[in-house]
Amino acid sequence: MPATLLGVPFDGASSFQRGAALAPAAIRAAFHSPSTNTWNEDVTDTTSLFLDAGDLAIDGVTDPRDSITESVAELLQQGTTPILLGGDHSITWPIVRAIRARAERLTILHLDAHPDLYHSFDGDRLSHASPFARIMEEKLANHLVQIGVRTMNGHQRDQARRFGVEVVPMRSGLEAMVTAARRLDGPVFLSLDLDVLDPAFAPGVSHAEPGGLTTREVIGIIQAIPRGRLVGADLVELNPANDLRDLTARVAVKLLKEIVARV
Ligand code: MN
Ligand code: MN
Repeated sequence: MPATLLGVPFDGASSFQRGAALAPAAIRAAFHSPSTNTWNEDVTDTTSLFLDAGDLAIDGVTDPRDSITESVAELLQQGTTPILLGGDHSITWPIVRAIRARAERLTILHLDAHPDLYHSFDGDRLSHASPFARIMEEKLANHLVQIGVRTMNGHQRDQARRFGVEVVPMRSGLEAMVTAARRLDGPVFLSLDLDVLDPAFAPGVSHAEPGGLTTREVIGIIQAIPRGRLVGADLVELNPANDLRDLTARVAVKLLKEIVARV
């Protein structure tokens, strides 16, 4: 079995609105909805491509970050590729810690409206606005490619320079973003924040940022990732409390079905 889905119902590091903890359940419901089927655009039934391990238990005692790292390490130990359903984006740092422990080299492809490179946000170094600062400080990635960014500020631009991040901002155009995905080398971890999509396509997020990608464009970027390179992925920041008619959950499922095909 090449991939295993694990839900991480954690939104305790969200800076603006809670709600992402409800996302794994919403994505599963959309996946199993009789309104569509489980096949992807490779004409493959994706139920043959992954197992669902359910949700990580967040018990309020253990640091959820430690639980995340341990669970991902266990999945890797079993020889399966972990696909995590967030949860807010803070989960990516503990995920990547486990991934990197078993990968000599690692490239991260990060799709997001935001660079998430704040040294700290509202005094929180573990904020969902900071995971890629932690990842780069700990040298967990050899190369970080950020696609779809459109909220860069001075501090985060300085952080991106300091860490050598390859930023392919929204304004660089679709061709540049697809090319960056096609060129990815070595083991790749994909971190997909649903707010990379324009709010017209994915309203159910906490930080809706206009001027984003269409669903079709994100599918194209995922399909440009060379097959067999993915060693893990996360799909984060769906906030069902802001969704309209489960549209964003449906988008998440559509993207998930294309992601598992790249494993
Ligand atoms: Mn993010
Ligand atoms: Mn974001």
